[in-house]
Amino acid sequence: MANMTRARAAELFRRLAADAPHPETELHYKNDFTLLVAVVLSAQATDAGVNKATPALFKIADTPEKMAALGVEKVGAHIKTIGLWRAKAKNVVALSEKLIAEHGGEVPADRDALEQLPGVGRKTANVVCNVAFGQPTIAVDTHIFRVSNRTGLAPGKTPRAVEDGLEKITPAEFLHGAHHWLIMHGRYVCKARKPECWRCAIADLCAFRPKTPSPDEAAKRPAKKKTKKPLRKLASKPGLRASPGRKKATKK
Ligand code: SF4
Repeated sequence: MANMTRARAAELFRRLAADAPHPETELHYKNDFTLLVAVVLSAQATDAGVNKATPALFKIADTPEKMAALGVEKVGAHIKTIGLWRAKAKNVVALSEKLIAEHGGEVPADRDALEQLPGVGRKTANVVCNVAFGQPTIAVDTHIFRVSNRTGLAPGKTPRAVEDGLEKITPAEFLHGAHHWLIMHGRYVCKARKPECWRCAIADLCAFRPKTPSPDEAAKRPAKKKTKKPLRKLASKPGLRASPGRKKATKK
């Protein structure tokens, strides 16, 4: 697939930005620390699922000190509805302890330092740098990976390759918002199973083919005829023999 030109990429972001000029994360949080915890909890889970569990947790533990004091068992009890909750409870308490021991209880505004915290990978660190500290980082999640590849905006086989491609092709003025716009587009329009191309604002810039027709248009299209496999081909496959069919009854 040919990569998108810089001019087309700029137009793509102009259109996505026009739909949501001030994009925000859908995760609920109270401060930098609770944002970091919410992002850690959101790995392989939905934002909506995390948002259901965190209000009660953040009400009693919205600082590293309070979270560490709560301990793994009680943190776990609050997040049991979230996938991988046991490992996440351990990480949340361990990262709280590390923040207290090494960063004076503050969330560092530095990707490398964030990546040293338990349960924090590059993607989580990029989200925190972007949302909490306004840095132009792009965290490649499943939505961004899919949209970048389908559209031809920044094709890549790994999240890191896509991240590097996006950093190169995204115009500076869109770098900070790119992360949110691409996530929203992937979550609500360019969906994994069936992208809703018929209502997509960037359809003419996107390399994906064939485009998904609208439900009305799809209903008007003639149904595809099912083609039967020729009997002879089946017969030639090892272990498969054509049915001999019914023998004609013969009069005796
Ligand atoms: S046209 Fe379809 S595949 Fe391309 S970005 Fe839009 S929804 Fe996704």
